Amino acid sequence: MQQYDVTILGGGLAALTLSIQIKLKNPNAKILVLEKRKSEATVAAHKVGESTVELAGYYFREILGLGKYLDEFELPKHGLRYYFKSNNKNDITTRVELGPRNWLKYHTYQVDRGTFENFLIKKNLELGTEIVLDARVTDVELGNGNNAVKYVEGGTAKTVTTSWIVDASSRMSLLKRKLGFEKPIEHNCNSAWFRVKGVVDVAKWGNNKEWQNQLPDRLRYLSTVHFLDNGYWVWIIPLGSKNTSIGIVADQDIHPFDTYNTLETAMEWLKTNEPQFCKEIDLSPENILDFKILKHFAHHSERLFDGYQKWAATGEAGAFLDPFYSPGSDLISLSNTLISDVILRSLKGEDVAFRADVYEQTYLGLIDSWIPIYKDKYKLMGNTQIMVLKIFWDWAVYWSVPTVLFTNNAFTDLNLVKKLFSAPDGLGRKFGKLGNRVQQLLLDWRPYENKVLEGKYIDPFDLEYLRKLQYEIEMNQGENLIDKMAENISLLEKFAAEIFRKISAEVKGTDMNLKVNPYEMVLDVENKLNIPEVSDEHNVAPDKMMREAVATIWFENEIVKL
Ligand SMILES: Cc1cc2nc3c(=O)[nH]c(=O)nc-3n(C[C@H](O)[C@H](O)[C@H](O)COP(=O)(O)OP(=O)(O)OC[C@H]3O[C@@H](n4cnc5c(N)ncnc54)[C@H](O)[C@@H]3O)c2cc1C
Repeated sequence: MQQYDVTILGGGLAALTLSIQIKLKNPNAKILVLEKRKSEATVAAHKVGESTVELAGYYFREILGLGKYLDEFELPKHGLRYYFKSNNKNDITTRVELGPRNWLKYHTYQVDRGTFENFLIKKNLELGTEIVLDARVTDVELGNGNNAVKYVEGGTAKTVTTSWIVDASSRMSLLKRKLGFEKPIEHNCNSAWFRVKGVVDVAKWGNNKEWQNQLPDRLRYLSTVHFLDNGYWVWIIPLGSKNTSIGIVADQDIHPFDTYNTLETAMEWLKTNEPQFCKEIDLSPENILDFKILKHFAHHSERLFDGYQKWAATGEAGAFLDPFYSPGSDLISLSNTLISDVILRSLKGEDVAFRADVYEQTYLGLIDSWIPIYKDKYKLMGNTQIMVLKIFWDWAVYWSVPTVLFTNNAFTDLNLVKKLFSAPDGLGRKFGKLGNRVQQLLLDWRPYENKVLEGKYIDPFDLEYLRKLQYEIEMNQGENLIDKMAENISLLEKFAAEIFRKISAEVKGTDMNLKVNPYEMVLDVENKLNIPEVSDEHNVAPDKMMREAVATIWFENEIVKL
């Protein structure tokens, strides 16, 4: 029997990036990757997880050093782009468009998962990782670091011994199932996706020259494009192989899965809900490369890392919530960073049990705090005004705290994590509470906001505070990181308070200079006379930059005086 330092179950994106991350720091680590696929991954029609955002872009480029490959062989990405509902979904130009106009400073990528995984295998082999294809893991035995993995390679049963076991088997979740750590999650959405041959460029869908000229050539094409309406969104993602990924994601209560879970019904569903797709894209069976479905994709776990028994789960073998903001590879980046850190320390002889516990609590806490971003929110997708605001809020949250902590290596700094997340009145708790308040406010606002907006363009980077947050993501904050977090959370408080003022003014007719405590704000619409009492001490006063931002988000030219 062979003895490995680390044996990774599964050889997908999470596995192959984790092994690189460990090897770059410890070239002598003996790593084995067991992948059940028999041969090279298929180009284009392999897996979903093609669109990356800032955190994962940084991870691939700066931490794993894959920038050169990504620049040369995958597509540069031009942000996330959204088209909301209109009264004429046959004409894209009538839909409100949200997305960046100018080329972005930060590089993110559209990756073809087939070409990417094939490259990652080569890179791993160069680094000395052992990769066995056609190796199906059947069981694991845990013995506090004297662990064993059983697998079948080409029909032959084999066993290896290993210090660490990392489960990266995605939804097979070998460890989670064996140890009974599955945790139900109520967010009930499903997805069906397929790849088509050839390029799909939505910029060519509108004949109107003015609309076409709103953006330089190709920038719409390079975005991850979302089309939204009540209860669903549909993605279009360009792939480097000049093919295109298309997917439907919908809430089970609004669009039951059996209305689009076969190729035939999915085409009918598109004809009804997104008729322009059927006109602009060749959806004939000969042009479709694959068709895949996933029911109830959200899943969670009670445990993820164990420093005593020396096991961990990464990628989709751990938890996954929703692909609306393309966060899958962000979660991989974060869990791999935590796991590689404990493994590297453990290989040097450090007792990592406590550290692994803290990392687990931090990671699970983050996942828990992200659930309200998605849960019940598909009901809002047919409401443009609410969704524009929500997307801007969610980006502000994402760019202000988690990405900055990640690029500043804060998640592996125990003192910092403790300061931020364990104190009851610490910044981490405030951040979570603020997010929950805003997500609830959006739901409470829904019955009162249902206008159909049409033919408008909104660029997140027209808003000064969003521009600033995105600009600063990769800045090294050094000793000032906690102060930076406090500054960013204060910015979010101002934004939250101003959002509340605007919504309350619309729904209840309150003054735009109302006193607001963003941690306690509630839109009590049943009782219009109930205007929350806020002391001067807790009032987050109106702010000029946020007032202008909110006017832009509401497509207004006039700014209410402060
Ligand atoms: C609808 C949808 C859309 C998404 N879109 C995006 C997106 O745009 N951007 C993004 O970042 N993320 C997205 N995600 C998430 C993304 O797909 C995942 O984060 C990512 O693919 C997970 O990678 P992984 O390595 O955990 O799993 P995988 O890449 O699936 O790898 C798991 C590997 O384990 C192997 N395996 C399984 N069982 C065994 C076994 N018993 N023995 C050996 N090998 C085994 C499998 O063959 C596979 O290769 C999306 C998810 C969904 C559901």
